Amino acid sequence: MNLTRRDFLKVGAVGGVGATIFGFDMAPAYAQMRELKIARATETRSTCPYCSVSCGVIIYTLGDKAKNVTPQVVHVEGDPDHPINRGTLCPKGASLEQDILNPRRLVKPQVRRPGSDHWEDIPWDKAIDEIGHWVKKTRDASFVDKDAQGATVNRCEGLSWIGGCTDTNEFNYLVVKTMRSLGVCYLENQARV
Ligand code: SF4
Repeated sequence: MNLTRRDFLKVGAVGGVGATIFGFDMAPAYAQMRELKIARATETRSTCPYCSVSCGVIIYTLGDKAKNVTPQVVHVEGDPDHPINRGTLCPKGASLEQDILNPRRLVKPQVRRPGSDHWEDIPWDKAIDEIGHWVKKTRDASFVDKDAQGATVNRCEGLSWIGGCTDTNEFNYLVVKTMRSLGVCYLENQARV
């Protein structure tokens, strides 16, 4: 077989075709490689958190679920059975694995004090106590029970809430109930999941 340099590069680019030209059928080997990568992984169906299209994804996790084993995400891809995206993901959704396995991801609360130029770590208990303290103080200071015409309104004008696209419908339901019970009327979310 006479292969020009151009033919050789073309063959290299399409891998499996090249293997056939050289007399080997590599298809079973490629199939085996693809299977091995996720063969022992657990499949978890989820939703891309990035935008309101809400594409379905499958998250592959290694780990035998034993108590002393930390599950490890090894691959994320579009869910072919999902009616919205049918297996496809845009570049942002396709990078989801890097969102999960990112050393810069925040996993503990932080606070920036008034006048400070930096964020500091804070324990969860202290963070929750401080949030409760400031919510009450702000609500007490900004609660309006009657408007200018004397109508009862019972609203808190000093607090607002904004939710993110990763919040589930159930989470948003609880948020709205909680915020309404405080009298908060400025609230928004991206309910879709
Ligand atoms: S994969 Fe892209 S289009 Fe789909 S939900 Fe995520 S960000 Fe939106």
